[in-house]
Amino acid sequence: MFINRCQFCNSPVSMPDSLCPQCRKIADSEKFDSFTERCPVCSMPLVSLVYRCPRCSAGGKYRILSIYDYRAPFFRHMLEQWKFEGKRSHTALFAQEYLSALKTLYPDLSPVVLVPVPCSEESLRKRKWDQMKDVALYLKKKHGIDCAFLIENRKVTLNQQKTLDRAQRISAAEGKYGINDKEAVKTDRSRICVVLDDITTTGSTIRSCVKLLENSGFRTGTAVTLMAEI
Ligand SMILES: [Zn+2]
Ligand SMILES: [Zn+2]
Repeated sequence: MFINRCQFCNSPVSMPDSLCPQCRKIADSEKFDSFTERCPVCSMPLVSLVYRCPRCSAGGKYRILSIYDYRAPFFRHMLEQWKFEGKRSHTALFAQEYLSALKTLYPDLSPVVLVPVPCSEESLRKRKWDQMKDVALYLKKKHGIDCAFLIENRKVTLNQQKTLDRAQRISAAEGKYGINDKEAVKTDRSRICVVLDDITTTGSTIRSCVKLLENSGFRTGTAVTLMAEI
């Protein structure tokens, strides 16, 4: 008989792709919601209740829901196994985490289109699979949530750079990403694009992806990331 095992400690569990109750308890205790308040504007966890959220005070307007604190050791270890040690089987477990966050944000998921942030071409070469694309495809297959690979890596070659003026060069430097035109023509602009990424550090990746989508006429919703460094 096939026995399901905890994704972390290998003890038998009843559900596939899950954690045992002990590991689940540790993981849950590392969620931001268990110990911190969120900014009412951007929904990032607040470092202090006394000071305003630094992102919003700086004029940020993009909403990001991050589930776990990057400083928390248990979940970060799982993330590292997934991202750097090739433990692709964690995709299913992580997809469940994104799914519960998405359901909280969007009780009706039918207008939502998931837009994963692509991994770098270097990691793709090394690992042969893209972790966020994996999550989006899993949620599409198992839960029928639409996804579109609207964001792609942009490489500005040295030759192209020579022909750009200064302002263009600066925006090219910011613009690590671009819109995938083939996907864009297939995607309905009235849907809500939800950007998915694994870790938020400064939030600049999410911001540039959301900006790109909005500049191309897409509606955007609250982005979701698994972990945030605050
Ligand atoms: Zn366990
Ligand atoms: Zn904020």
